Amino acid sequence: KDYASDQEVRWCPGCGDYAVLKAVQSFLPDLGLRRENIVFISGIGCSSRFPYYLDTYGMHSIHGRAPAIATGVATAREDLSVWVVTGDGDALSIGGNHLIHALRRNVNMTILLFNNRIYGLTKGQYSPTSETGKVTKSTPMGSIEQPFNPVSLALGAEASFVARTIDSDRKHLTSVLAAAAAHRGTSLVEIYQNCPIFNDGAFDAVKGNGAGGGVVRLEPGTEVTLDGVTWTHDPSEVSPVRQFALSRMGHGDRSAVPIGIFRQVDRPTYDDGARAQVDSAREAVASTREDRLTALLGGPDTWTVL
Ligand code: SF4
Repeated sequence: KDYASDQEVRWCPGCGDYAVLKAVQSFLPDLGLRRENIVFISGIGCSSRFPYYLDTYGMHSIHGRAPAIATGVATAREDLSVWVVTGDGDALSIGGNHLIHALRRNVNMTILLFNNRIYGLTKGQYSPTSETGKVTKSTPMGSIEQPFNPVSLALGAEASFVARTIDSDRKHLTSVLAAAAAHRGTSLVEIYQNCPIFNDGAFDAVKGNGAGGGVVRLEPGTEVTLDGVTWTHDPSEVSPVRQFALSRMGHGDRSAVPIGIFRQVDRPTYDDGARAQVDSAREAVASTREDRLTALLGGPDTWTVL
């Protein structure tokens, strides 16, 4: 049985969120965890309704602050599988600060960043990932801003796991989810998600509908060529330089866009480090207490039990 809750799903008909939800509901039992050991924390936005629709613990939290709340949960409860669901507005506008610091710290959580390049919940204003020139309700003459590329941003913060996938490719989406969930540290998964109401067809070129470059599927060992330079993709390469170069492909033009795992490296996690410090502080306090008691009362071998 999948991990669907009994809540009525309230997204617009045809929204890409449905496909991601179905993939996550079906995938979660594969984690082999009890439902109460999985927690989904979201911010504000269309995709942030996600926790209602899963039969796990969850929190529909504060705008942009899901990574901060998830940091606390992951640090306090090592036994939980912690997930963040966020969108391009929630994660990259109001929550940009919290996102980059979670990535930098390498907190043990999986972040699903639904990128539809628009503000859907507030009915169609431009977002930090809307392309330059995009005409929306809040940019009637076209956006004059340079958009964020979430994968480039995460690589710039030296996140330990960075991937991109697409709502309509269930097999690819599930394989990326599995790799992200298995990774220790912060996993950032950008999901291209179609918003048929306010930004329909934003990823048509990537999906191969109409003129466009389609995708380059990244696997370890994939040969990639950029600006005349060819190399073999290695997500475990510690330097993010070549992974960053890859992330620029298809950004701002209509060439093929890489999907898959850009980066997957091991490095210490914040929550492991914090727990180790708390444990050693506790031991220090306990031994200090014992030393003081011994100084005051003598050691246990001198005590008389009455
Ligand atoms: Fe989905 Fe767009 Fe509707 Fe939000 S506004 S639920 S993103 S289709």
